[in-house]
This record gives sequence, C-alpha cells and structure tokens, in this order.
Amino acid sequence: MGITRSVRRLAAYVPGEQPKARRVVKLNTNENPYPPSPRCTEVLARFDLERLRRYPDPEFAALRTALARLVGADPECVFVGNGSDEVLSVAAKTFVENDEAIGSLDPSYSLYRTLAAIRDVKWVGLPLEASGDRGAWEELKERRVSLFLWTNPNAPTGTFAEPAAIAAFARRFRGVVIVDEAYADFSRTNCLPLATASGNRNLIVMRTFSKSYSLAGLRVGWCVGPKDLIAALYKVKDSYNVDAIAQAVALAAVRDQAWMKANVAKVVRTRTWFVERLVRDGWDVLPSESNFVFARPPHAPARDVFAALRERSIFVRYFPGPKTGDRLRITIGTDAQMRKLLAALKRIAA
Ligand code: PMP
Repeated sequence: MGITRSVRRLAAYVPGEQPKARRVVKLNTNENPYPPSPRCTEVLARFDLERLRRYPDPEFAALRTALARLVGADPECVFVGNGSDEVLSVAAKTFVENDEAIGSLDPSYSLYRTLAAIRDVKWVGLPLEASGDRGAWEELKERRVSLFLWTNPNAPTGTFAEPAAIAAFARRFRGVVIVDEAYADFSRTNCLPLATASGNRNLIVMRTFSKSYSLAGLRVGWCVGPKDLIAALYKVKDSYNVDAIAQAVALAAVRDQAWMKANVAKVVRTRTWFVERLVRDGWDVLPSESNFVFARPPHAPARDVFAALRERSIFVRYFPGPKTGDRLRITIGTDAQMRKLLAALKRIAA
C-alpha cells in the first residue's frame, strides 16, 4: 500500500559485494588499490569539526572552481554530486519528460536501467556493436530517447570508443548526451575537449573521485558541460548534496594531480602484464582502457570460476545474462593481488 507502481515493479540496482572480512582480495568494484593523496589525509586531520555546525557551501565554490580550472572551463559549467551516481539521478530528473526515454549502450552500467525504472520511463539499449551505426541512432529518436548515457571506457567491457564517434553521435542526437567517463583517467584520451568546446550544446562529460583518485568512500562525482544544462542540474539537486568534509578532501585530491597520475600509471602497468598473462593462459580478454578487464575463462564457465574464487576469498564480478554471462569483470589491483588471483586460477584449473 502507498508504494508507487513503478517502485513495486522495480528491480533494484545490486552493487558489488562489500565483504566484511578484512583478509580478502577485493577485485569486484573497480576501486583503486592505492591510497588517496597524503594531502587528503592532512586536510582531514586538520578539519575543524566546528565547521560541521553549519551547512556546507551549497554550490561548493572552491571545489567547483578547482575542477573548472583543471579542465579549462568556466566554474558555471561544472556541477558536483554525491558520487557520480547522484549526478546521474539528478540528470534523469532534469532531462527526461514522463513520456521520453533514457538510452545507453548495451551492455553497460546497469544502474542506468534502474534510473529509468525509478523515473517510470523506458530504457533503450544501443547494442555495443551497433554504437557507430546511424540506423541504430535513428531508432533512439523514434523511441523518444532524450538522455543518452555513453559510458567511455564502457563498463563492464572496458572497451573504448573514439571521441570523434561520440562527437558525431552528439551532433545528430536531439537530447542530452552524458559521456560517463568514470574510468577515463585510465584511458589514452577522453571527451573533455568536446564538453568544453564553444559550439557544444548538448554534451556533458561526467567524472568521479571513486576510481583514479582512490576516494570511492568519499562519494564525490562531477560533470562539465554547457552552462544552461549545468544550471538546470543545480535547480534540481538537493540543497546540500556534497558535505563539507567531502568538499574539502576532494579539493585536496584535485590539487594533487601528480599523485593521482602516479597511481593510474601503476594500475595501467599492472593491467598490461596481467592481460598478457591471461591471454597466454587462454583467456579471451577484451581490449581494456580501464582499471578492470572483462575476460572469458578458457576451460570452465565464468559463473563457476567466480564461485570458486569467492570460496578462496577472492572477489571478482560476475554479471549473468546473454551479453555478459560468459565473462568475469576483474578489477586491476596491486601486483601482489593479481599474482594471488593468477595462483588461485591455476589451482582451480588443476
Ligand atoms: N559510472 C560507472 C560506469 C561506474 O562503473 C560507476 C561505479 N559503479 C559509477 C558511474 C558511479 O561511481 P560513483 O557514484 O562512485 O562516482
């Protein structure tokens, strides 16, 4: 009683498992295995709790300005959310009428579909293999897709679409395109220049502190795009959506680009040798520009390998379903964690 029809029917998003035990190898939610910048530790240690008596800056001016400077944009072009998940949820309220739809690549981040269900609007998947295909784009128009979420690099595949293809898509698309670049710091290039270009009317690039900055627990994400679209997001968000501690710690992280880049370089180095090893052992590995790989095991079904690893306290991610169920998504951890995983896989196969 009292619960809306759409919520009664809703299949809630299921986040990756957060095991309680400490001695596990956790490679299931694409977290960074290295600590955040020491400048974050310093800011937190010196944070005056007296500041919590008051509400935080509702417009996160300092953080917003630092992010704008980082990408060469006007601060009015930057929005910050309680994780990029909140940015997505605010966007779903801002850019989609009740009779319109949300589109995304398929397969992609499964939260998008849940967001459409919460809004009680349709979700339309653009098959990954057809993402460069104009005929498929036409269908999005017919089905009244007004917000398209293009994950790049994609998840869970890790694969990368050239910014030129995304730009061509955005030029033809009549609604708002959010390029979800949660993993773009691990890629060779990105769509930021498209978001900050002067002629851009409908493309927003979204980023997060959860992956490359090692701050998944802080819950800060942000996006940059045309001023009018960003202003609309501000109208819809909760008044105080980013808490004072999160604003201060994220600001310290932005100011230490060298730390973030060094961690990213370590992860990419590990990814390179780890992929070589998997391929040598007979796995089919999709080319990854992320901090994870999406790979098909050679001998046993992915589901069985997932379960066998879990028994050994090694957590990777398994997504059942026709497009994803034959592979595992494995986050790139430290070299030691990846060696443990490879040793366990060898024992499982024996
Ligand atoms: N986008 C993608 C593609 C993701 O994989 C994730 C993490 N699950 C997010 C957005 C959300 O990240 P956060 O809310 O931690 O910023």
